[in-house]
Amino acid sequence: MSFPITLAFVPQGHFTQPYLALPCLKAWLQAAGFDDVEQRDLSIEAYDHFLSPAYLRRAQERVRERLPLSTFEGRENLPLGELRAFRSAAESEVSANAVIADVEAAKAVLRSEDFYNVDRYVPAVRTLYHGLRLVSAAHYPSELTPHNFTMGYANDRSEEVLAATLDEDQNPFIEFYREKVLPGLIARKPRLFGLSVVYGSQLIPALTLGRMVKAALPDCHITAGGGFLAYIGEKLMGAAGVEECLDSMIFHEGEAPMAELAGALEAWNGPEQADLSAIGSLTWFKHSDTGCETVANPPAHPVALSEAPPPDFDGLPFDLYLAPEVVLPYDINRGCYYGECSFCTLPTVIGPGYRTRAAETIAGHLTDLRDRHGVQNFSFITDCMPPGMIRDLPEALIEAQPDIPAEARMKWWCDARIEPRAYTKEAAIRLHESGCRKLLFGFESATPRLLKLMRKAQSPRSVADVARNCSEAGISVTLYAMVGFPSETVEEARATLDFIREHKDIVREVSLQTFHIDEVALTYRDPEQFNIKILDGAGTDLQLYHDYLSEEGMTQQEAAEMFDEMMNALRADLPIFSGDNIYYFMQKSHYFLHLARGTTPDEFVAQCQQRTEDQKVLKPEGPLRANAARTGIRLPFSHVAAANTLAHPLARAARPDFLTGRFVADAQAVAEEQLEPLTPQECVLVYDEVGHEFVELSRDGLRVLEAIERAGNVDSLLESLKSTTPGARERLTDYITQLHRKGLITSFQPAAALPSASTETHELTSL
Ligand code: SF4
Repeated sequence: MSFPITLAFVPQGHFTQPYLALPCLKAWLQAAGFDDVEQRDLSIEAYDHFLSPAYLRRAQERVRERLPLSTFEGRENLPLGELRAFRSAAESEVSANAVIADVEAAKAVLRSEDFYNVDRYVPAVRTLYHGLRLVSAAHYPSELTPHNFTMGYANDRSEEVLAATLDEDQNPFIEFYREKVLPGLIARKPRLFGLSVVYGSQLIPALTLGRMVKAALPDCHITAGGGFLAYIGEKLMGAAGVEECLDSMIFHEGEAPMAELAGALEAWNGPEQADLSAIGSLTWFKHSDTGCETVANPPAHPVALSEAPPPDFDGLPFDLYLAPEVVLPYDINRGCYYGECSFCTLPTVIGPGYRTRAAETIAGHLTDLRDRHGVQNFSFITDCMPPGMIRDLPEALIEAQPDIPAEARMKWWCDARIEPRAYTKEAAIRLHESGCRKLLFGFESATPRLLKLMRKAQSPRSVADVARNCSEAGISVTLYAMVGFPSETVEEARATLDFIREHKDIVREVSLQTFHIDEVALTYRDPEQFNIKILDGAGTDLQLYHDYLSEEGMTQQEAAEMFDEMMNALRADLPIFSGDNIYYFMQKSHYFLHLARGTTPDEFVAQCQQRTEDQKVLKPEGPLRANAARTGIRLPFSHVAAANTLAHPLARAARPDFLTGRFVADAQAVAEEQLEPLTPQECVLVYDEVGHEFVELSRDGLRVLEAIERAGNVDSLLESLKSTTPGARERLTDYITQLHRKGLITSFQPAAALPSASTETHELTSL
């Protein structure tokens, strides 16, 4: 008898490539004899659905109902608490029609050869970002971005999390599941439904779906697992009401427990609840006449990775990912062979021990996946590659691709640890020959004192040596860096920044994060070692991250400010971070795809640099006219001022944190007290429908554009200004240059007969 199983990767994850968890589970379940396993990436399905004209049109109508711009007219001021609503309402009003018109084309750009043309790529990415802002505004205060999903509910309080699963006004996934997911599930009737929850951003969407499937399919067992649940799952399973959304949870690696769970459920046919007490790493709800009891089974043995089948990607919607070529994830090993860093919890949450596949096995699996799916690119999911693998894997990969020239071999990237003896010049060349195009190293800090506290067992000098060897071999180097480790001073953080800047010829990207203390890390378990005092989080039953007080170094607030200082400096100094180029860094895989195609890191960086320079000195040349493809609305407050206030670290702290998803206690009150409300300032918000960018103009600015339109072109307008106030023409020319850089004035080919120039004299005195 068939035992249908459905596995779902729930929203929200990156939209550029598939995730690994479901393909690993599917392969394992099939190897265990369950041949009816369906896997669905509901995250990419949701992005595709939300970023469609029909959905965005509905979102536009909802925004007009929920956040009418008229609410903000005639106000004496606008406090912090209303700025996001104001910004959302304004942006939606001015951009929605253009975004709706172009959203399908934008997705097509990212999925086609046009992706490689930066002038097509950047407006397309912006269109998708603005589409998601429209979706968010329709569910205000929720926020769905390419990197996160948060609501007006705290992720670290079960009561709020469960309430969020029922709030259709704020939770866009309720309608999505009802319309796009449940009908298929009801028709299929899975007996076991598995939810993959890797990130905190997936928690509410996962429980929302669990609740809905439970109501629709009472005989289906719903389980959940994944990286994020390894941190908070135990607390979650102890919280009242979760049994309405889930039947069980699997901790750490899911393969073996999932197969055992499927076996137990398949074998069960009595009226009582199946006995699940023998399934390792499973925590489940045992129902009886007296209520519901949470039962935590002992841990399962970790899987022998060397014997595990390769991941099975069949059934995933490759054509929906927002990238021109699919990059497949693959697990070369699990756990970390080093496992000592005092801030790191990765080796703990993946499951006990370090396990690896043999280099020959990896090479065999990759060539099979290449042939089966027609893909050339892989991201290795690994905490870091051990020295033996750095030596053996390139040989195995090259051997597995005989007669294939180096440039045509499979390409890959992964995380790595600074191992100066392994990343020699020769080894780096061999890695590049085997297809390695990008390595991301844990650098963290340039201060030896802090590196020692972190137990990194590496020096800044070794980081520079490894980065240089890799960079010279043609491998792009990314550094993970950290700000705010307990006792770090402002000077030490600046030393880290200086190190990066001094090595910008070999370091292409930096992944900078502020330090957080989670309950699994040594910094939480043994705070005295780090001279810190952990603060309680009263009332947060799912709390994972903790605030702390440090007697030395920066406070958490100072670290947040230092983060901004460092990011601003990196944006000024690193070409891939400057201006719009940062989109390549922000979209997982997008920069890598350029490298995989044959562009060297040097060439890519030079292109980014050139683009930034060109934009700085862009001069209006030839015949110019106002860009007619624009929409403008008058606003009572400045959109730029609202955005700047919302970007302040105090204001950011009042939103759920990007990494942790939690609200910081009393952050909103502190921010409201310290950040001045906006005072009225009439302005015009313009949306450039070609570049898909917002530009704020003064009323005079709009008058300039309108004057150019009336005059027919820029030359005609300037001609008509000859006799006006001295200096007006020069000021206007400068201003037109700025408008040109913003895309609001464009070149054109004059027709044989130009429209006759207006002879009107324009008074433009206060630009
Ligand atoms: S930071 Fe990297 S090297 Fe250190 S323990 Fe974590 S995964 Fe291992």
